[in-house]
Amino acid sequence: MCGIVGYIGNKPAYPILINGLKRLEYRGYDSAGISILNAESKIYKCRGKVNDLETHINGRNITGNIGIGHTRWATHGVPNDVNAHPHKSQNGHFTLIHNGIIENYSELRTELMDRGYEFKSETDTEVLVNLIEHLYIKTKTSAENAVRLALQRVIGAYGLVIIAKDEPDKLIAARKGSPLVIGVGNGEYFLASDATPIIEYTNKVIYLKDGEMAVLKRDNLDLSSIDNHKHTPSKVQTIDLDIGEIDKGEFEHFMLKEIFEQPKSIRDTFRGRISMEKHIISLGGLFEVMPRLVDAKRIIIVGCGTSWHAGLVGEYLLEEFARIPVEVEYGSEFRYRNPVILGDDIVIVISQSGETADSLAAIKMAKEAGALVLGICNVVGSSIPRETMGGVYTHAGPEIGVASTKAFTAQVTVLTMLAMWLGKKRRLLKEETYLKFITELQEIPDRIEDILKNNDQLKEIAAKYKDANNFLYLGRGYSFPVALEGALKLKEISYIHAEGYPAAEMKHGPIALIDKKMPVVFIAPKDDSYDKIVSNIQEVKSRGGIVIAVVNEGDKTIKGMADHVIEVPETNLALMPLLTVIPLQLLSYHIAIMRGCNVDQPRNLAKSVTVE
Ligand code: GLU
Repeated sequence: MCGIVGYIGNKPAYPILINGLKRLEYRGYDSAGISILNAESKIYKCRGKVNDLETHINGRNITGNIGIGHTRWATHGVPNDVNAHPHKSQNGHFTLIHNGIIENYSELRTELMDRGYEFKSETDTEVLVNLIEHLYIKTKTSAENAVRLALQRVIGAYGLVIIAKDEPDKLIAARKGSPLVIGVGNGEYFLASDATPIIEYTNKVIYLKDGEMAVLKRDNLDLSSIDNHKHTPSKVQTIDLDIGEIDKGEFEHFMLKEIFEQPKSIRDTFRGRISMEKHIISLGGLFEVMPRLVDAKRIIIVGCGTSWHAGLVGEYLLEEFARIPVEVEYGSEFRYRNPVILGDDIVIVISQSGETADSLAAIKMAKEAGALVLGICNVVGSSIPRETMGGVYTHAGPEIGVASTKAFTAQVTVLTMLAMWLGKKRRLLKEETYLKFITELQEIPDRIEDILKNNDQLKEIAAKYKDANNFLYLGRGYSFPVALEGALKLKEISYIHAEGYPAAEMKHGPIALIDKKMPVVFIAPKDDSYDKIVSNIQEVKSRGGIVIAVVNEGDKTIKGMADHVIEVPETNLALMPLLTVIPLQLLSYHIAIMRGCNVDQPRNLAKSVTVE
């Protein structure tokens, strides 16, 4: 949440900062702001999107080669001009941008008010910048030391970048909890919440470690731990990120581009990991922990939002093929409810961004309990892969649309490979079943290509039901997590209330909602519970509900009852979520567009949830 950029070098800072903010806007878009070090060192900031900031700045001549920029996802204080970042300290010594939450801001604020500080904004960030200034003046120390002293008094999470007026040759940055990446150029450094604003300029990056601080000058970078203890500084890495991957290309929205990218992102996820000649699945990031995984007594999958839904598919897969008991937990519940974690448990944390705050906290807890903690993440070098003892990257490429699509199918692909790999290692799968399965997995991208050809049909259905107030999504078995995911997609981008349920649960409550205005989406492939779901469809029809059903090609039974059927090809039942979710993503997308919603930046949301 929230995007941070910084630049120090010899180029004009403004274009680098404003373009960087555009790249990071998926992380937050309540307000945006920029400050560039020059004779005036003014702060330009306003409520709204980065485009609004650009209009606000337009025509002004902001020169300077050192600067910082921020796009906000408000936690403390409404989105308005005053609460927008950067924040300047009362006497103008420091200007700060911040991602995260200062949890003890209230007591620090009171303390500073007692010392004569007045606050313009409602943010926790303004408290921090004034705390730094207060300690700077009081202890007559360097800017860097003042930052260190202040951060030692802070409870909470931060990724921050600071300009110090009295030391105008540097930027000071620090992170705890929230991500920060440094781009290493020639006589210049870049700073950002993720690598996307940096790769246009350099592919050499340093991922700041948790608790690490950086002082950046044009020709020098100094890394230390915030508390000044001995530490091994982060290393420069070369990243392989194609600029084309972070552009919309021919698509109108990132979400649509990412839906259509799924054949490729799934292929990229299994590429190099499945060898048909050798009949093996190999997940390199798990080699070292393989013996412990194979002997697992229990797996706990932790995730939030869409990742939690992928985890649920993972539970079904792992229990069916590897016969290991699995529990799926929300990161936020798991970390606060005192769960039983045993020393021989395997905890798998799933996160697209690899920065989800609740999931990171869950990792810490699980590690303390002695469990083997693994990650399934998309963003290479992010915190979760670094904090876990092994794992698998999803290789879906950057996901910019706030509503997750290709990350979900990539996560499910990884979980599928894991379940098959474990099933084989545990000698539970017959060779032919295993081979058939991995062949079918490799055909999934082609099957998705076929489904994407139904885009116009989905548009037509969307036009019919775009004004509905409620939707119900129902499925059984592997289709139940898909029902949850379909409902979440609709909610988050179209603001229509939607619920996902196991189809059989309908009669325990949701059936009361059904009337002639209620679209009910059934995910009904030809699986073991097909007859049961046919009965559920009849129950809805008998009560006047509207049925939209995702079925296998050639299904005549449901076609005869449903108002609309969307066909998907047949495949192994355990792979069906990778197909059935696609039309649901498209349905949500078209409904949201027809309702005039901003699908890439839905209200109140942000992509990478780095706050609790
Ligand atoms: N807590 C800060 C605020 O509300 C920063 C939030 C963010 O990460 O964007 O302004």
